[in-house]
Amino acid sequence: MIIQSDILAGVPNLIHGSGVVKACPLVFKYGDDFDAVVAHRRELMNELGIRLEDCVFMEQVHGARVRRLGKNARGSGIEEPDSELKAIDAMMTDEPNVFLVAKSADCVPVFLYDPKQSVVALVHAGWSGTIQEIALKTIRRMSRDYKTNPADLFAYCGPAIGRRCYSIDHDLERIRQFQQRFGESVLSIEHEQLHLDLRRCNRLLLEEAGVEPESIEMSDLCTHCDEHLPSYQREKRERRTAILNIIGLRP
Ligand SMILES: [Zn+2]
Repeated sequence: MIIQSDILAGVPNLIHGSGVVKACPLVFKYGDDFDAVVAHRRELMNELGIRLEDCVFMEQVHGARVRRLGKNARGSGIEEPDSELKAIDAMMTDEPNVFLVAKSADCVPVFLYDPKQSVVALVHAGWSGTIQEIALKTIRRMSRDYKTNPADLFAYCGPAIGRRCYSIDHDLERIRQFQQRFGESVLSIEHEQLHLDLRRCNRLLLEEAGVEPESIEMSDLCTHCDEHLPSYQREKRERRTAILNIIGLRP
């Protein structure tokens, strides 16, 4: 099953979606068969009508570094983690047939599409990347490198852990940081615990960057509630799958 955004689904030449596959980083730990992971990835890309060889995987270190990609990045990390693009959590390209991939479980995948300049970007935003404003930084970088006007952008925050399932009650420093940066609207009390709305934080970053509110779509799928979706919070080290989020342009 491929999960898609309404706002991006109608765009000709734009490929995007999120699908669940066997996970990569846990494979070695659990002695799983890595070939099965690659086969699973290939199946998902087939479903989207693209080739795994045209995809780019990144390492994802919960940072805020963005990288601009060309055609030569294709194939990075598709069959083993060693060749993933190192130390980045966001990618952008204006090249057709370069499909960006972000792995996620509870983190927020942010899909960005600039129809005027024909540019796509994909952001992996966990709490750490979110407080480091990675979505905002990615849009600034798109403006610098591709002359993107943020008001032209379409943005979609995909499946991620929902507010009701994400307690940060134990972490006073994190509460303080989010309160200071995003205000009270991203925090709420659920079952007498303080919860964080990570997707809302990313919406605020997108709006701050200049994306029109009506051009932002938020998935309401919660990875923690939906048993078909992988969740780090729910499964901890038992987790054996990941969501792959994909975006790219056809010629
Ligand atoms: Zn939930």
